Amino acid sequence: MRRDLGHPKFRNSYFLVCLTLRAILGNMSGVREQDARRTFYLETFGCQMNVHDSEKVVGTLIQEGYRQVETVEQADLILYNTCSIRDKAEQKVFHRLADYKKLQAQGKKFGVLGCVAQQEGEKIFERAPHVSLVCGSASYTKLPEMLVQLQTSDFGLRTSGAVEIDFHFSQNRREVGHPIDVFSSHVSKTPQDLVRITGLDDRQTDKCFETEYTARTNPHRGYITIIEGCDKFCAYCVVPFTRGKERSRTSESVLAEARQMADLGYTEIQLLGQNVNSYRDPSGNKSFAELLAAVGEVAGIKRVRFTTSHPRDFGKDIVEAIDATPALCDHVHLPVQSGSTRVLDAMQRLYTREQYLERITWMKAAKRAISITTDVIVGFPGETEADFVETLGLLDEVGYDGVFSFKYSPRPNTPALTLDDAIPEEEKSRRLDVLMTRQKEIQIARYKKYIGTTAEVMVEGKNEARGQWVGRTSHNKTLNFTVPKEGNGSLTESLAGASAKVASPKIGTYANVRVTGSFPNSLLGELVV
Ligand code: SAM
Ligand code: SF4
Repeated sequence: MRRDLGHPKFRNSYFLVCLTLRAILGNMSGVREQDARRTFYLETFGCQMNVHDSEKVVGTLIQEGYRQVETVEQADLILYNTCSIRDKAEQKVFHRLADYKKLQAQGKKFGVLGCVAQQEGEKIFERAPHVSLVCGSASYTKLPEMLVQLQTSDFGLRTSGAVEIDFHFSQNRREVGHPIDVFSSHVSKTPQDLVRITGLDDRQTDKCFETEYTARTNPHRGYITIIEGCDKFCAYCVVPFTRGKERSRTSESVLAEARQMADLGYTEIQLLGQNVNSYRDPSGNKSFAELLAAVGEVAGIKRVRFTTSHPRDFGKDIVEAIDATPALCDHVHLPVQSGSTRVLDAMQRLYTREQYLERITWMKAAKRAISITTDVIVGFPGETEADFVETLGLLDEVGYDGVFSFKYSPRPNTPALTLDDAIPEEEKSRRLDVLMTRQKEIQIARYKKYIGTTAEVMVEGKNEARGQWVGRTSHNKTLNFTVPKEGNGSLTESLAGASAKVASPKIGTYANVRVTGSFPNSLLGELVV
């Protein structure tokens, strides 16, 4: 049974149980009592996968007796869930660690989780000696044990010198036995009290990070990871090295979580995976498209999204599922990376421009208008001006509703590092500017076409300064809207007459909005009353 710690319906009863448990355990063990008072702060960098991993890490920590706090200053344990997809993201983490190093003197502990942890491993201790815990995303299942080690080392061993505890479980690393053996074999005297705990499972793990407790932050829309890791090894990408091999959850487990979320009142589910559509059901029951449809049919679920799809594994059956299942959102994010087959080949993307465009044709032939977005990398080694022009042409041909564009960033361990013909930084920047300008023009034209139409939005919040409500369409577009004659009146009052006030929409509900204006990245509208 999975619990959603973030959800208001669950929060109260969970903490009651927690308090009772704590009282009992407190009598049994001094260690547990100490646990209960520990606080942690967690900052997340990077993609949606990281955001959702953090929700599960928070759930795990709370289950272990920690309490989440909102500032570094309030925390005993400071954690960073990191991203290493581009160099900039990685550097941010080291800057953050340097900024707060001084807090070590107050006895605070620091931990680095996620992709930078996996990629840099023990080198993090050299660069940031105040870090005590390094745990890659493929090792999260070991987190509870590591937290216990962190606390135990704190109580008994901090005064004896450096304490090193290994949680490596890969074939090429030593597997560690009983923690006490580890302490005795790894204590080495240093001038400082250093505690070093590592969990670096790398590509050997075949476990998914499934937690009993997840602390989702949004009570209406929630993520479910259905597949972890990646076996594609694109020439530029660190993910296969940082997130381990591809492994899927059973469709039964995914559906059970979806039903549980629906019971708690969630109406939107986003299925996640580095390549979500490479999903292979270990129980052999459902294809990805069938799983999508099944989640879309869970009672109470109004919207299902999925990201990110890899073009090589994108079948027509996904489009058919969207056509057949109203709850599946009419939006597909299909990263192309380049419009040139020559560059795609060098990137080891496993498809050609023509094959990619064939998938676009399937989507354009769908009964519902599907909004398409993509990722593009400019300045991959050897990308010529002609290749780049092909990418620009592809933007026109597809007519994307959004493009995430990046300058190629050389990453450790990746095959692209050894390629010749690096593109100078200024040229990468120029290409990025040109691409973004072209895409902006495309979006201006595309977004304008929505003026005069009516769209259903999920209400996400209110921008008080502008007096506008913020909604999201099934196409994944932001639609900011006003409510004519908005007041605090009830819905009955709102129906009472032309002069009556219209009730403010509630966050998490759905509303119909007429589009009255457009910008390159958002739409403007008015609530239909
Ligand atoms: N699995 C997805 C796919 O194959 O399309 C992509 C997931 S990746 C985490 C997100 C995006 O980061 C990629 O689509 C790519 O555009 C970008 N990216 C990855 N490695 C990069 C690098 N070395 N330099 C610049 N951008 C990169
Ligand atoms: Fe990275 Fe390629 Fe895997 Fe996507 S498919 S995560 S870009 S290696």
